[in-house]
Amino acid sequence: MESAPHVAIAFAGATIYVSPDDSPIRDGVVVIDGATIAAVGDRAHVAIPANARRIDASGMTITAGFWNSHVHFFERKWADAASIPAPELARQLEQSHTRYGFTTVFDLSSLWENTRALRARIESGEVAGPAIRSTGEGLIPTGGLPPDLVLAMMGLMKTPLPEIDDPAQARAAAKKLLDAGVDGIKLFASSQRGAALSEETIRAAVDEAHDAGKPVFVHPNSSADVLTALRAGVDVIAHTTPASKTWDDAILALVREQHPALTPTLTLWQQTMRHDRASAQEQFVDAAIGELRAWLGSGGRVLFGTDLGAVDPDPSDEYRLMQSAGMTFAQILASLTTAPAEQFGSAQAKGRVAAGFDADLVVLRGDPSTDLRALTDVRYTLRGGNVIYQP
Ligand SMILES: [Zn+2]
Repeated sequence: MESAPHVAIAFAGATIYVSPDDSPIRDGVVVIDGATIAAVGDRAHVAIPANARRIDASGMTITAGFWNSHVHFFERKWADAASIPAPELARQLEQSHTRYGFTTVFDLSSLWENTRALRARIESGEVAGPAIRSTGEGLIPTGGLPPDLVLAMMGLMKTPLPEIDDPAQARAAAKKLLDAGVDGIKLFASSQRGAALSEETIRAAVDEAHDAGKPVFVHPNSSADVLTALRAGVDVIAHTTPASKTWDDAILALVREQHPALTPTLTLWQQTMRHDRASAQEQFVDAAIGELRAWLGSGGRVLFGTDLGAVDPDPSDEYRLMQSAGMTFAQILASLTTAPAEQFGSAQAKGRVAAGFDADLVVLRGDPSTDLRALTDVRYTLRGGNVIYQP
């Protein structure tokens, strides 16, 4: 991104969470020069350049920019992304992502050509938005695509997905997407209308993606799907599966062994069950919370992910539900920052507030370590040193 001669920006007086594991810097200073962080430390030890734009951040909290590792750009509002008027597109990106501090998102199935066009408009500097990674179209079992009417009711644009039912087809479909430049591969392990994918079929896609250095995500509908996916060596399980009630020892043994990642998508279950009785809703969400708790207890990695596009953008409920699964503030912050940066190969540039790292930052009004609600009270979102959101 080319821009006018830059001025350094300095936030002064904030509590800075350098990483989830380090104790925070109080009365700290972050100096940003261009797209990267130039210096971080307490006020007594960091010199603010004389010509810097100085922003008083007293009482505020600064963390690394957040990642949502399970989103979709498949709603109708993103269709024809190349021609949506810039102000409208910017507003949509703000409402869905940047106003909540998200600076990087992983799209797990959408029309790749469209999502690529959307990303290009953000990367050219035409509209402010998060960094987008995408799997492009997810692979589905043959016959597994829901009917058009269902997709329309879900608010989705028509997206033909590659259908696979054997290893050769899986390999070919994955290769085609990887050749077209996607950042990972997504598979739907089973569907209402199609058979479940076999372990060999999933593994064929995994091998193809891993050969290209890209991660593989699987959407499971049951604990059986989770087990098959883990046996096939996938990197990220894209949902909990509350319909199965619990995840048994066969799954948890593989979690201990392989340290795969999970996007819990707890809010999704609340939303799915919103027409049902309160008690049924609670049981369903509690089952998902129990699965997340078991996953954590077995040393599995957790990446913040909501299935945004299928749920509302406000992540408040997801944070609260993650907390009720026993996650501490540090663990939730890790799921938003260091865990995805490590999972997706960006740990040297993203996920921490440190000199030399990308200036992807969230400035919050309060302190989320004492009240999680502060995580959604965003004063500034910065990506690559540019303010991409302020109220
Ligand atoms: Zn999803």
